Amino acid sequence: MEIKSKIPIKLLYVEDEDIIREQLERVLKRVVKDVVTASNGEEGLKIFREYRPDIIVTDIRMPLMTGLEMAREIRGIDKAITIIITTAHSESEFLLEAIEINVSDFLIKPVDTDNLISVIDKKGHEIILEKELEKQRRRFETILNFQDNMIILMDGVNIIEANKSFLDFFARSSIADFISFYGTLDSQFIDDEKAIHRIEGESWVRNIIEGKFERNIAKIVNIKTGEPRTFMVKTTKFPEEDEELYIVSLSDITDIEEEAKILEKLATTDPLTKIYNRLKLNELLSFEVKKSDRYNLPLSLVMFDIDHFKDINDTYGHDIGDEVLIKLCEVVSANVRETDVFARWGGEEFMLMLPNTDLEGAKSTAENLRKIIETTDFGKAGRVTASFGVSEYRFESNTRDMLKRVDDALYEAKKGGRNLVAAL
Ligand code: GH3
Ligand code: MG
Ligand code: MG
Repeated sequence: MEIKSKIPIKLLYVEDEDIIREQLERVLKRVVKDVVTASNGEEGLKIFREYRPDIIVTDIRMPLMTGLEMAREIRGIDKAITIIITTAHSESEFLLEAIEINVSDFLIKPVDTDNLISVIDKKGHEIILEKELEKQRRRFETILNFQDNMIILMDGVNIIEANKSFLDFFARSSIADFISFYGTLDSQFIDDEKAIHRIEGESWVRNIIEGKFERNIAKIVNIKTGEPRTFMVKTTKFPEEDEELYIVSLSDITDIEEEAKILEKLATTDPLTKIYNRLKLNELLSFEVKKSDRYNLPLSLVMFDIDHFKDINDTYGHDIGDEVLIKLCEVVSANVRETDVFARWGGEEFMLMLPNTDLEGAKSTAENLRKIIETTDFGKAGRVTASFGVSEYRFESNTRDMLKRVDDALYEAKKGGRNLVAAL
C-alpha cells in the first residue's frame, strides 16, 4: 500500500511479545508520524495518560494488565478514542467484552501489515478531519464569546445556540437552562408598542424581518440589577438552509441612548433658565410653519424683552440679574399652554411660539403675561416689566418675514414707552 506522507497523529502500540512489537513498530513508523510502544497494559495506560495518543493498537493477553483491562480504563477517560485490538482466533471469548468497551476494530493475529496500514490510514484521516472541525468550531465559539453583543441562533421561535454574553446576561448556564427557566426570549421583552414586543402566536424574528415594529430595539430587564436595558436588534435569515434559521444580535445601546439624550438636551436647552434655546425654537418653528401651510392653521409669535435690564444688573449685580431671568422664565412657563414653545432668544429676550393661535389670541396671551410680570415680586430686584411684540404667520409666506415683524413690533413697544404690547 502506498502512503505518500506520514499521517500526523500519535499512535500507541501495546504488545508484550518483543519480536512482534518491534516488527510492527517499524511498519507503523513508516506511515504514522508519532509512534510509542508499551509492553503491557499497565505501561500502556501510563503512557496513554502522559502522551495522549489519537489511536491505540493493543494486544489482549499481556502480563500485569490485559489489553482489555487497559482499554476499559482508557474508555473511562476518553469515550471517543480509537482503540484497535489485535487478537488471535483462540481469544474469541474476549470479543463480547471488547464490543462492550466499544473498540473500533479487530485485527486478526498474525497481523496483516497491509490491512493494519489501511485501517490506520482510514481512522487517522477521520481523526484529522474531526480535529480540524473541532478546531474550527472552537474558533467560531471564541469569536462569538469574544463579543459583548448577545448573539443567538434560532428557528422562528426557539433558541438553538447562544453565546456567553447572552447566558451571562440572563445568568443561565446553558441554553437548555435558559429555555426551562424563561421559555422563549420574547417573554422577556418589556411590553412597548414602539419597540420589539411579543405578539401572541407570531414569531418576533419574522416580524422584525417583515418590518412590523416601529423601532428594532428591545427592552429587557437585567435581572442582576433590576434595571431595564435597551438593545439594538439585528437579524438575518441563514441563506441556503433547508430549515428556517436566523442569527440575531442584540447590542446594548442603553448608555449611548442616554448619552444622546443628554447631548440633545444640552444642545437645545439654555443652561441658565433651562428653557429651550434659539436653535430648538427655530427647529420647532419651521416644523409648525409647514403644518400651518398644510392644514391652514393659525400660528403666532410673541417676543419680549425685559425693560431696562441693564439697570437691574448695574444696581443689584449680575447674579441678581440672573435670578430675575430664572424667575421670569418660571412665571412665564407656568402661564402658557403646554403646546406653546418658550425659548430664550438672546440675553434678556425671549420668544414664545403659539401654534394654532391667531393674532388676537397671541395679543391677549402677551397682554396677560405683561400684567403677570408687572405684578410679580422679583425679590431683591423688586418690580420688573417687559415689552412685547406680536406677529401672526401669513399663509405661504416665510418664517423670516414673521420673525422680522415680531422684532419690529417689539421695537414699537419699546418706542411707545415700554411695558406695552404691540402687534404687526
Ligand atoms: P431695554 O429696555 O431697551 O431693553 O433696555 P435694556 O437695558 O434691557 O437693554 P440692553 O440691550 O441695553 O441691555 C441688556 C442687558 O442684559 C445687557 C446685558 O449685560 C444683560 N444680560 C444679557 N444676558 C444676561 C444674563 O444672562 N444675565 C444677566 N445678569 N444679564 C444679562
Ligand atoms: Mg431689555
Ligand atoms: Mg435687549
